[in-house]
Amino acid sequence: MQELISYKSSLVLGILWLLFVAERVLPAAPVVAAANGRRLLRNLSLWLCNSLASLLIVLPVTLFAAGHARYWWSAWLPSWSWLLVDLLLLDLWIYWWHRANHRLSWLWRFHRVHHLDQWLDVTSAVRFHFGEVILSALVRAAVIFCFALPVSSVIIFESLILIVTGFHHSNIRLPKKLEYWLSLLIITPSIHWVHHHVEQRDTDSNYGAICSFWDRLFGSKSATVRTPDMQIGLDQSSDQGLLQLLAAPFRLESYRR
Ligand SMILES: [Zn+2]
Repeated sequence: MQELISYKSSLVLGILWLLFVAERVLPAAPVVAAANGRRLLRNLSLWLCNSLASLLIVLPVTLFAAGHARYWWSAWLPSWSWLLVDLLLLDLWIYWWHRANHRLSWLWRFHRVHHLDQWLDVTSAVRFHFGEVILSALVRAAVIFCFALPVSSVIIFESLILIVTGFHHSNIRLPKKLEYWLSLLIITPSIHWVHHHVEQRDTDSNYGAICSFWDRLFGSKSATVRTPDMQIGLDQSSDQGLLQLLAAPFRLESYRR
């Protein structure tokens, strides 16, 4: 298990680093002033906080849920197809979890920290409030328990999701045809950048994480096409400093949702 986790971490970090370099060599949209070094530091600090939360809470909760699950449906399908079923189930869960984060104001308080980023690149994919990471792990534990998902499937899913979210937040320029074909199956930058558009009707659409067909299936696909000058962030809210972002969900003020 230890070996699988360290192998996964090095592979994922290597791919994220390649994406980070690629989006600077071949950018799709012209880089704006908001994408400065302070922003990078802020995003990476939030990543550090949620990595700590993952180590202390997410991993133990996930191991507990997987260890106590009842394998009541293991005879339904041949064993070779289980990994695919597990990955699809987790991706479907994260689609609805993300949608709930936009619909329920108490969840939006945390998820809003991710959307306050006024530029997108690979570092946006790891910019989450630790509260969202912990809440997500607690709800996901119920899914792992109910569907008896093995830890190996969860670890593979976590690697995939980090790679795909790094990719779809990135500002990497892709050949149009390649992106079109990829977008039929997975979430690409053109799809996800629309989710970060300042227009609320776009922010409340394109919830998919890995597979792009959930949005088409559940009617949440935006018709907006990404443009190079698309404004990223939240209307009437600007990004904040690290401490303000960490404290924001716990403030008494109400957030529009
Ligand atoms: Zn969102």
